[in-house]
Amino acid sequence: MKNLNYCYRCGSELSKKIEEERERYYCNKCGKFVYRNSVPVGGVFVVKNEEVLLIKRGGEPNKGTWSYPAGYLEYDEKPEEGAARELEEETGLKARPEDLKLVATIQLEHPDKYVVGNAYTVSFKDVEGEIRPGDDAEDARFWSIEEMDSHVDEMESPKIIDAAEKAMKLVKDSN
Ligand SMILES: [Zn+2]
Repeated sequence: MKNLNYCYRCGSELSKKIEEERERYYCNKCGKFVYRNSVPVGGVFVVKNEEVLLIKRGGEPNKGTWSYPAGYLEYDEKPEEGAARELEEETGLKARPEDLKLVATIQLEHPDKYVVGNAYTVSFKDVEGEIRPGDDAEDARFWSIEEMDSHVDEMESPKIIDAAEKAMKLVKDSN
């Protein structure tokens, strides 16, 4: 995890100080802590029969690996709205935010931050449009769990497989 070097308020070099038993960044000039938080992401597992739709990441980090269609939430965006927006941008499929069911949270470590994915699921029969990879997705196609398991090294994280399994179960149970 990349270190934080400078205060975002005044540009001074940061030191470290203990607060509530946790070592945090501290700016001596401002006399204030500089807090670091994880960054929220929204994404969707689209389930069709025994398979889930994954995208091939076209951007860093983890470029070229397969993951669920997801992206950063806008400042004032609800997670399910951001998840539906990202799904459409990356795969061309349109889902109604109210049809999305939360299936898992997925924490991933990126070079400069932790991201926390709000991972939703929806059945393929409840989405509209045709699959057309876009935005920063190089490709998009359906995968079975067995196929994902045998290509773990091509997945962004094994956590994607765990969440995909839960998504499949949730969609199956609600049919
Ligand atoms: Zn400062």
